[in-house]
Amino acid sequence: MAKGVPLIEARAVSKDFEGANKTRFKVLSDIQLQIHEGEFVALLGPSGSGKSTLLRIIAGLVPPTDGEVLYRGDTFFGTNPGVSMVFQSFALFPWLTVLENVEMGLRYARLGRDEKRNKAIAVIDMIGLDGFEGAYPKELSGGMRQRVGLGRALVMEPDILLMDEPFSALDVLTAENLKRDLLELWQERKIPTKAIVLVTHSIEEAVYMADRALVLSRDPAKIISHVPITLPHWRERKSEPFTRLVDELYSILTQQKDARVSLQEETEVKLPRKLTLLPNVASGAVTGFIELVDDLGGKVDLYKIGDSLALDLEDLLPIVETCRIFGFGTVTSGDFELTDVGRQVADATVLDRKTMFREQALQHVPFMERILWVLESKRNSQMPREFFLEILQKSVGEEEAETQLDTLISWGRYVELFAYDEDSKLLYLEDVDETQEGGE
Ligand code: ADP
Ligand code: MG
Repeated sequence: MAKGVPLIEARAVSKDFEGANKTRFKVLSDIQLQIHEGEFVALLGPSGSGKSTLLRIIAGLVPPTDGEVLYRGDTFFGTNPGVSMVFQSFALFPWLTVLENVEMGLRYARLGRDEKRNKAIAVIDMIGLDGFEGAYPKELSGGMRQRVGLGRALVMEPDILLMDEPFSALDVLTAENLKRDLLELWQERKIPTKAIVLVTHSIEEAVYMADRALVLSRDPAKIISHVPITLPHWRERKSEPFTRLVDELYSILTQQKDARVSLQEETEVKLPRKLTLLPNVASGAVTGFIELVDDLGGKVDLYKIGDSLALDLEDLLPIVETCRIFGFGTVTSGDFELTDVGRQVADATVLDRKTMFREQALQHVPFMERILWVLESKRNSQMPREFFLEILQKSVGEEEAETQLDTLISWGRYVELFAYDEDSKLLYLEDVDETQEGGE
């Protein structure tokens, strides 16, 4: 295909955000990116890496700190005139009908009332919601709501469709149907859209749909890999070329994670900036996974195991990442292997497991040790949640701080390092004061 002026070009785009105490942290660094006519590009990267931020910058919803975004070779003021966006969380107006929600996409278009209505009706038909024009979002299933979200974006007939994890809030079958329908609209040119950018954390989704995958690293995000995906549609997920591409991307994503860890360890002393973030995973999922891997001989191919357990990689990855952080396993090129401690956990009793988790947590999750240290230093052995939240907010931002603290607290309780009272929102050390004699 002749490549003229790109539809979208990002030049040296970077983005800083401000933490709670005015410290700035860099989310995107020097992003160079070109999207050409006819391309379906997937943007892959770990959660929290900056995928949504990059998409919003391309859409002109968020200004970059440095660099610029061009649409057809020109800068634009405000929102990007060539794009429309589909969000993960549907973002529908609950008080508007399906038809009215889709028409919202045309609210700034210079079209007559009837023309808007006709376009909206045509799009509703195209996305398979014929007959639901008068329904309200609450009367629709998740899949249908996302179809409305897609309809609202398509009715604008954008040059470029930006999609931010549009399938991740849907159950597997519903997502699958919607992916096929979108791909069909795109492949058979039933929509005038000239390029699609799909943000996803699902490698398989990227390989199934896109012509090219861009992989983002994190802290800060850079584009670390361009992987062309040239398999003809419709793609067979079980075919050898398909799984080979998934493995390759998987390997790129996990390797960059490993690289990030060593980098972090090197710079930790000088720059205690980013914390080791604990994924939000229940302890039972971690021990269950360790047992399973042990039963399978101590080493597994993550892609294969995800497939045979009917678990998406994106469900599996947080569990794997937790195991890795705690030192129970290592990840190399898509394989997960238990460490010695991991094997011991598999064979241990429930009580011994707690002790092992406690030791590993203190050793590998610095913030856990910090919480304990603070509680031990206090005469009354207690501290409000708010105190730790403040500290966390400085390095990870407000939203992430809440989830991170919840995760830390649930681990802390599980390994019995400290206790937490939901009503008073206090973290405290147990068996001080009341239960001095201890013992069971
Ligand atoms: P992804 O979509 O890859 O999960 P995001 O782009 O949502 O990642 O976020 C990347 C990082 O930027 C995260 O650390 C997030 O907490 C932070 N972040 C995103 N938006 C803001 C904001 N408005 N203010 C401060 N930090 C933000
Ligand atoms: Mg996101």
